[in-house]
Amino acid sequence: MALTLSKKAQAVKPSSTLAITAKAKELKEKGLDVVGFGAGEPDFNTPDNICEAAIKAIHDGFTKYTPAEGTLELKKAVCDKFLGFNHIKYEPSQIVVSNGGKHSLTNIFQAICNPGDEVIIPTPYWLSYPEIVKLADGVPVYVRAEKGQNYKVTAAQIEAACTDKTKALVLNSPSNPSGMIYTREELEAIAEVAVRKDFYVVSDEMYENLIYEGEAISIASLNDEIYKRTITCSGVAKSYSMTGWRIGFTGSSKEIAKLMGSVQSHQTSNPNSIAQKAAYEALVGPQDSVYKMHAEFNKRREYMFERVSNMKLISTLKPQGAFYLFIDISQTLEKEYNGSKVGDVYKLSQILIEEFNVAVIPCEDFGFADHIRLSYAISMEQIKKGLDRIETFIEKLV
Ligand code: PLP
Repeated sequence: MALTLSKKAQAVKPSSTLAITAKAKELKEKGLDVVGFGAGEPDFNTPDNICEAAIKAIHDGFTKYTPAEGTLELKKAVCDKFLGFNHIKYEPSQIVVSNGGKHSLTNIFQAICNPGDEVIIPTPYWLSYPEIVKLADGVPVYVRAEKGQNYKVTAAQIEAACTDKTKALVLNSPSNPSGMIYTREELEAIAEVAVRKDFYVVSDEMYENLIYEGEAISIASLNDEIYKRTITCSGVAKSYSMTGWRIGFTGSSKEIAKLMGSVQSHQTSNPNSIAQKAAYEALVGPQDSVYKMHAEFNKRREYMFERVSNMKLISTLKPQGAFYLFIDISQTLEKEYNGSKVGDVYKLSQILIEEFNVAVIPCEDFGFADHIRLSYAISMEQIKKGLDRIETFIEKLV
């Protein structure tokens, strides 16, 4: 038997967001003044009360295995959050706490997919969805949402993509990368298709606390039929600036929760016991730090939207949530920089990082090869400096 490797693992695309962040770090380490718009995480410290809860957990000896699907204490707090914030009623037996939202999503697809099952992924999408689906032997089916439709798919588009193999739809509202939010009416229409065609909805609501315009609506809250078919996924990473703590959670039917729990029990056992105590404090403790971060993000969003809207050759829609600007750069691709055509989004990102020391995310891996994503999870001062540099670059295009 030759020393061959797993075809499935080899087919995984390395994350391009991590690659650009690594390049920016490398240049920074060389002493260059780099502005990194790549960040996928809040730039604030984890609030003190949450850190204190973790320190207390250590001193109290809460440092051993917990139930694989999370402590009852945390699952009850997650149920209260789902009821109070999302208007969805789950019991602790319907909750699975995992090692981050990404792990929750991994468990979901492991629990529902059989080889060849199709999963509808609206485009633009967060770049990990297709890879997570493929690792679970599912087949991504992409449905494109153009800028003219606010980067949101319609129920009719979803229905047109359905086949007898459709197993699930991924919904992400607020969306990474577009920042768009689905309205109640849009979700009602999508839910009607999901119920009639009988497929699951994986509703990724990771950015639910970062909504600046519009209302957070959870599809599972709409009616009993869609509730049965929905797995609602969220976590503490973005809402509480806890990306490194790795806690995500889901609400689903008991049947799916049981499967996810047993998959997880063999993969990673329980999520970190100390991080579970911290996540509990995040959910039940004072929420003022969430409001402060929200207010700061909103200021940056207004500023960035205003600046980018006034630039030549690029355009963006005003994001309603999350902390990203999704920018259409298609017009720049035909232009020349320093005597050669910009050509594609990777070249544009390369020029920006190498010549202007600005890191942006090329969105080909998000399904939109003529868009970039700029995060506003960096300081206002950095944002101003970075946008000045992007403007200078645009001025130099002929
Ligand atoms: N879902 C979306 C849309 C995300 O953008 C991210 C992280 O970037 C996640 C899920 C995963 O979050 P976590 O850090 O909890 O794994």
